[in-house]
Amino acid sequence: MAYKENKVLFVGAGFSCAVIARKFAEQGHNVTVIDSRGHVAGNCYSERDKDTNIMIHTYGPHIFHTNDKEVWNYINQWVEFKPYINRVKTTSQGAVYSLPINLHTINQYFGKTLNPIEAKAFIKSLVDTSIVDPKTFEEQAMRFIGKDFYEAFFKGYTQKQWGVHPSTLPASILKRLPARFNYDDNYFSHKYQGMPVNGYTQIVEKILAHENIEVKLNTVFNKEMESEFEHIYYSGPIDTYFNYKHGRLRYRTLDFKQEVHEGDYQGTAVMNYGDVEIPYTRITEHKYFSPWEYHEKTVIYKEYSRLAKENDIPYYPIRFAGGDGAEQLAKYVELANQQSKVTFIGRLGTYRYLDMDVTIREAITVAEESLQAMLNNKPIPAFFVNVI
Ligand code: UDP
Repeated sequence: MAYKENKVLFVGAGFSCAVIARKFAEQGHNVTVIDSRGHVAGNCYSERDKDTNIMIHTYGPHIFHTNDKEVWNYINQWVEFKPYINRVKTTSQGAVYSLPINLHTINQYFGKTLNPIEAKAFIKSLVDTSIVDPKTFEEQAMRFIGKDFYEAFFKGYTQKQWGVHPSTLPASILKRLPARFNYDDNYFSHKYQGMPVNGYTQIVEKILAHENIEVKLNTVFNKEMESEFEHIYYSGPIDTYFNYKHGRLRYRTLDFKQEVHEGDYQGTAVMNYGDVEIPYTRITEHKYFSPWEYHEKTVIYKEYSRLAKENDIPYYPIRFAGGDGAEQLAKYVELANQQSKVTFIGRLGTYRYLDMDVTIREAITVAEESLQAMLNNKPIPAFFVNVI
């Protein structure tokens, strides 16, 4: 194994490729980054709406949060972040409640004035303690928050979001959300949280702005490109790379119905809808993601989730609910491991539900370990994480 020409191709211009590409460029490699879209930043892309000048999260809301100081420092070196706390509300059965479940939610929902200790005891009396090791979303809910909250806030929403009954989903999905016995209504429990003042696109543009990096937009990857490069980092869907040889992996996609209104629409950035009869999962009001700005008008997105068809944008990998997904994925991983020229990275390359901070953390690791492998003339693995 010898790396002489230092020519590396990155497929996809989202965070994964951008972070790795930059580290390669800084080490003197000649880097090409291609993306089939006409812009960088992948699904984190944000832009100002032409009419209202509001910063729009075009592919759905992104809030940066992490416990990883190195990742926080990494992201802050490129652009200015302002503190932002995500405070989510949910509408259920004709009333509005605070999420994640906290003391306000408990007291409001049950019409009580409990203190933290009383609330803990009260919720304990509602949950099913006979469930020792919750495996499914539903079991996790029944064990830790009880039937009332499960049915009001999670059952309908999850049915809409994932298209299946929560009893067929893993407990890990609900574990993303905390339940608190104080009035802390910060949706995330991470130490660092913020919003880039000029949007996410600018971060990726800055990461990619290096003399050794060439960015080609509106450029679809094809395998013939590979011969020109010593190594390829691929952040597109792994099944697409192998031309769907073992069938298509399944994803949920999102449809956003945009509306523009005068003034204020809902008074907050995120309003979830727990009732299954409301067809959308949530409404986001984008000017509230930049609360330091003032705008006369407002832009909202109603968010609808459904199974992705062939030409839809893949958002959430569907790794559960039976079917042959696991088997197919294993076959693609086997194919990937049989070759040594391509490394699969990011949400789509590894078919995992990834937050931005995890994506960046993994990308930093991939870059450092790959550069080390190159120095030692060692092969670069197809994956740096456990995909199955
Ligand atoms: N969820 C729910 N009701 C809510 C918010 C979340 O049932 O009001 C469930 C839903 O299944 C979702 C999961 O909890 O997929 C994780 O929520 P999170 O907010 O992390 O989802 P994301 O923002 O990644 O879509």
